[in-house]
Amino acid sequence: MNISIQTIPEAQQRKEVSGADWFFDARGDLQVRVSPMSDWRREALLGIHEAVEAIMCKFNRVPQTAVDKFDQDYYLAHADDCDAGDDPEAPYEHEHCLATAIERILCAELRVNWEDYDRELAETYPGPKALKPCQK
Ligand SMILES: [Zn+2]
Repeated sequence: MNISIQTIPEAQQRKEVSGADWFFDARGDLQVRVSPMSDWRREALLGIHEAVEAIMCKFNRVPQTAVDKFDQDYYLAHADDCDAGDDPEAPYEHEHCLATAIERILCAELRVNWEDYDRELAETYPGPKALKPCQK
């Protein structure tokens, strides 16, 4: 299996998603797409999060369709999607939480301030969440 993590303009993301995406293509290779951020390290953090989440969903047999459907329904019901994967109802909650743990370790090693990174995701990153800052 090959893994490709790319930063692409938001307009080129699959219409089903906002800001960050993963899917397995017809060859079974993992494709991860993130939208541009202010710092390459933040794009890397987000890409690694998505890659870990996707790998664990594959391992735990969480279907892509279930993830996409949950996210789309979540977007409709919430003004932001900051914590969609943290929702206990999310079919990929466990995988998302592991991905976040690894993302946080990498964040520390890359000397990225988590709060600043999280604020950019909440306030200016593409997607429904850009409409309203996360309520934490
Ligand atoms: Zn996630």
